[in-house]
Amino acid sequence: MAAKLIDGKAFASRLRARVGEAARRFEAAAGRPAGLAVVLVGADPASEVYVGAKGKATREAGMASFEHRLPAETPEGELLALIERLNADPAVDGILVQLPLPKHMDEAAVIAAIDPGKDVDGFTTESAGRLATGLAGFVPCTPLGCLMLLKDHLGDLSGFDAVVIGRSNIVGKPMAQLLLAESCTVTVAHSRTRDLQSLVRRADIVVAAVGRAEMVKGDWLKPGATVIDVGINRLPPADGEAKARLVGDVDFASASEAAGAITPVPGGVGPMTIAVLLRNALVAAHIHAGLRLEEEL
Ligand code: NAD
Repeated sequence: MAAKLIDGKAFASRLRARVGEAARRFEAAAGRPAGLAVVLVGADPASEVYVGAKGKATREAGMASFEHRLPAETPEGELLALIERLNADPAVDGILVQLPLPKHMDEAAVIAAIDPGKDVDGFTTESAGRLATGLAGFVPCTPLGCLMLLKDHLGDLSGFDAVVIGRSNIVGKPMAQLLLAESCTVTVAHSRTRDLQSLVRRADIVVAAVGRAEMVKGDWLKPGATVIDVGINRLPPADGEAKARLVGDVDFASASEAAGAITPVPGGVGPMTIAVLLRNALVAAHIHAGLRLEEEL
């Protein structure tokens, strides 16, 4: 393997430690812990795992975790009423509604109900608009985590050619906005893109957020490119193994021969998402309490 491994797990654990220290200072100064509310509707197994992990990480960082689990058949009005209560609750600095929501709910309406000042996921139109226009605001956790890894590895990103594969509101679009704000030349590729391979071939930075196992091959890459693999795909167990295999959107074996640096799956982008969520919640808490963060997180 020629590529340097970008160790998101280690980076995330350092970020979580810094957030933990800042959370202790916050509690001493504000007279209350920072608080993060997580709402789960229904019992999607992957969402259950994420929500459990978020609650645990919140408590480990010394913040208050408020977990609300509602049955799948909850009427939308009840969820909106809960969000209103959380918006008004001074102990709650951040609100996260775990997606996807059950089919009978209007996801856009639910997200719109979240107070933009507590939108630690960065999914409201206010947050998206702020990001697009270069104003300070909450940025979705996964792409912000990717940016942190890129800057840690490459330093100044200005002038780099970046290709983002995927245009979701959660990953692809905010990732492209962040890279643009860092003065990269950004191309956003998606399911209708023609000749994806030759776009990828030009890129110094490739961020793959597609949801297709091992789609990006090593021979697509410009030699030495930096590759950030956001994908989380479960493949059936390999011969002789009991557990499902977790792979990214990048074919790690071939890509790690061509890339200059690459994030593994698992252990790359995944651990960054929760660490950035905690960071966003602590930033929100400081704004609510009128306190300044002593160091940038
Ligand atoms: P999504 O399904 O909302 O979006 C996928 C995007 O890929 C779409 O914009 C689509 O146009 C594009 N696409 C589909 N097929 C394509 C193709 N053949 N060529 C080029 N583009 C194509 O998914 P998402 O929510 O953005 O997530 C993407 C992946 O990232 C998934 O594997 C998801 O599990 C993972 N993810 C990981 C984290 C994390 O914490 N690491 C967080 C969010 C999402």
